Amino acid sequence: MTKFQKKITIISLLWIVLVSISFVWNYTNTRKEHTEIALQSAKSFFDLIVMTREWNARHGGVYVPVTPETQPNPYLDTPLRDIQVNEQLTLTKVNPAFMTRQISEISEKQGIFFHITSLNPIRPQNKPRPIEREALNSFEKGEDEKGKFIKQNGKTAFFYMAPLKTKKACLKCHAEQGYQEGDVRGGISVTLPFGDSIPLTAMLLGHTGIGLVGLLGIFVAGRILNNAYDTIRRQATYDELTGIPNRRSFSERIIAELNRSQRDQEPLSLIICDIDNFKSYNDHYGHEQGDKCLRKVAQQIQNTLKRPSDFCARFGGEEFAVLLPGTSLENAMHLAEKIRKNVEELAISPENLRDFEIVTISLGVATYEGDEQFFRETLIYQADTAMYQSKKNGRNRVSYFKE
Ligand code: GH3
Ligand code: MG
Ligand code: MG
Repeated sequence: MTKFQKKITIISLLWIVLVSISFVWNYTNTRKEHTEIALQSAKSFFDLIVMTREWNARHGGVYVPVTPETQPNPYLDTPLRDIQVNEQLTLTKVNPAFMTRQISEISEKQGIFFHITSLNPIRPQNKPRPIEREALNSFEKGEDEKGKFIKQNGKTAFFYMAPLKTKKACLKCHAEQGYQEGDVRGGISVTLPFGDSIPLTAMLLGHTGIGLVGLLGIFVAGRILNNAYDTIRRQATYDELTGIPNRRSFSERIIAELNRSQRDQEPLSLIICDIDNFKSYNDHYGHEQGDKCLRKVAQQIQNTLKRPSDFCARFGGEEFAVLLPGTSLENAMHLAEKIRKNVEELAISPENLRDFEIVTISLGVATYEGDEQFFRETLIYQADTAMYQSKKNGRNRVSYFKE
């Protein structure tokens, strides 16, 4: 894995973690909000029932006509429970419990269930269901309310229950059961149809979409940056005209190779090649042809090198440097001669203009034997001096440095 791929992977993983956290956070909040809405709806129904009961209790019960649906309440033990007004009309007293039951019968048609219940019921039908018993027990321990989603007949509903606390008006009838103001007498449960359908799929799809677009963005931006970085690195280390390493790369390489030669006690050879009479060539054929020639010579030198450790760079305008690690003077001379011959054999001169001599190079070789302290400037100076010797001796030849 390259450094770039590692960085992209880390950024991508961070992005995935971020999107996942956002999803969990959104989902949790939506769930909380949904539960809160259900709780408030159920609570409103509960409060309304408690209010109507209080109204009823304040009047000490309310008289209604006796009908087939509203028969006198057998559990209501009060002296004036039924009043015969005339032959057509008999009134019976409806206490809060009876009233709640009647309202619950109406609300059941809307799918809303009320149940008045107690751990100690007067009427057997008011016995708590298991979920209500659990809530009533928690009220005895001081809890204020209970609300949760339940499954009812295969559908999701919200169950809410809160205690019925004894109020002053209730004591009129309930004092004889031993209740005091503030005592928990039981509770009313409210069960509302309320789907707990959180738009999970939509949320999941949305976050996956954001996640993928982000990943694509990271990938594309990363690629663009990496390409730009590659270009800058290339420009900094390679020569634009010839495509071989530039002088900067050469300077770094020669330091590293000299250090290695000193450490391993191995020779290091340097060949400097300079194109002969290149100024005239340029003057004669023009700069463009000169550039073409430089490219060809650079390629030819590069092609002559066979060992992976051999290194060729453009050293100056029409000068090239060849660094040969682990190579003795004798072998370097051999290689230099091969380079010279190969360039000569290229027989560079633009077509149709055969009046100019073919392009040749002069070479200078210097070798560091790996035995003493040595500076790169010294090696370069020695190779350069040898190259000038070749020029002096008539060009298109190889010389080595002699003290
Ligand atoms: P000698 O045989 O003594 O080396 O003679 P020379 O003419 O090759 O040497 P000189 O140093 O006088 O001239 C080098 C020429 O190389 C001068 C310059 O025009 C040419 N040159 C340097 N860099 C470039 C380049 O990038 N492109 C082209 N076309 N020519 C270049
Ligand atoms: Mg020169
Ligand atoms: Mg020259």
